[in-house]
Amino acid sequence: MEKILVLLHDVEREVLGLALSLGPFGCALVEGPPSSASDASAAEEAIRQSEATLVLAPQTSRWARALPLVAEWLNAPIDTHITALTPDLKATRWFYRQRIEGSFTRSQRPWIVMVERGVAAAIDNGVPQNTVRGKAPRVEVLGVESPPRDKQTIRPGAKLLFVAGAGWTKKQKDGRTYTDEAATLIQEFVAKAQCSLGSSKSLVDQSSEGEAVLPFLTHMHQVGQTGATPRHAKGLSTCCHGEEPHVVGWRFIGERRAVNLDANCGWARGKADVLYVADAFEVMRELNRLLG
Ligand SMILES: Cc1cc2nc3c(=O)[nH]c(=O)nc-3n(C[C@H](O)[C@H](O)[C@H](O)COP(=O)(O)OP(=O)(O)OC[C@H]3O[C@@H](n4cnc5c(N)ncnc54)[C@H](O)[C@@H]3O)c2cc1C
Repeated sequence: MEKILVLLHDVEREVLGLALSLGPFGCALVEGPPSSASDASAAEEAIRQSEATLVLAPQTSRWARALPLVAEWLNAPIDTHITALTPDLKATRWFYRQRIEGSFTRSQRPWIVMVERGVAAAIDNGVPQNTVRGKAPRVEVLGVESPPRDKQTIRPGAKLLFVAGAGWTKKQKDGRTYTDEAATLIQEFVAKAQCSLGSSKSLVDQSSEGEAVLPFLTHMHQVGQTGATPRHAKGLSTCCHGEEPHVVGWRFIGERRAVNLDANCGWARGKADVLYVADAFEVMRELNRLLG
């Protein structure tokens, strides 16, 4: 039998409606200033005290900021954007940018589930009687720690977008890979040109497939159909084939150039203004030298 706790800031009645369909539940109303740190502390306390095994919260931006912290502190799994939860605790959500709908459950407890709007009929009456009203503790800000400016490589305001493709980690002419040199060349260029860094999907996916990776690239850098659609005045693509699902992410880039060894790559088929059929290692070495 699950011990269910519903976390609320306001009386979000749809979540209560969903909880009602699952069984008896407790409810904690977290009040106070909207700060993720204080919301998270209050939620953690409520979960610990109630010994809840299943924690439901509405998918609001306020909870979306606080609950991942709570999940980390409690070593609890968290699932977001849940669109249905059945009495036998099968959760449903969309994956891969709304292309696949999946249904799953989890055995680890406590399990934090953030539910989207419209998951259940809202209940009519106000706050359930057993609601605990928790004041979020006041949090004193001692200082702000942020990474150095040059560590941030996604720069929407930059004039140039530099895209790295999977070719950077592939075997080169001599049959060897040069991933370390690729990382140095790319990072040096991005720092010198103060441009924004993008990536193809193949390159960022490699980390999950156990292949050689460029550690400073994440899925946040991915440009394309299932990635970002940046809006820079110019774009330079390197070691990227220029396939349609990638290039569709370039639709707002003004002037497009690409460097690829393959004169028949996608960029050559009307997708770039200029294609340099060249070795990107050589081109970037020279560019970095010219930038001084
Ligand atoms: C539904 C769906 C959605 C997708 N969404 C996206 C998306 O959002 N973004 C995305 O990027 N992709 C997406 N893809 C994948 C996309 O189709 C391609 O598979 C991917 O973009 C290929 O990445 P790549 O060009 O970096 O790698 P590869 O295809 O492996 O190309 C590597 C290129 O590097 C070149 N190269 C190698 N060495 C050098 C060198 N020394 N100098 C110059 N060039 C060199 C090679 O000639 C080759 O052209 C999606 C696919 C599907 C099916």
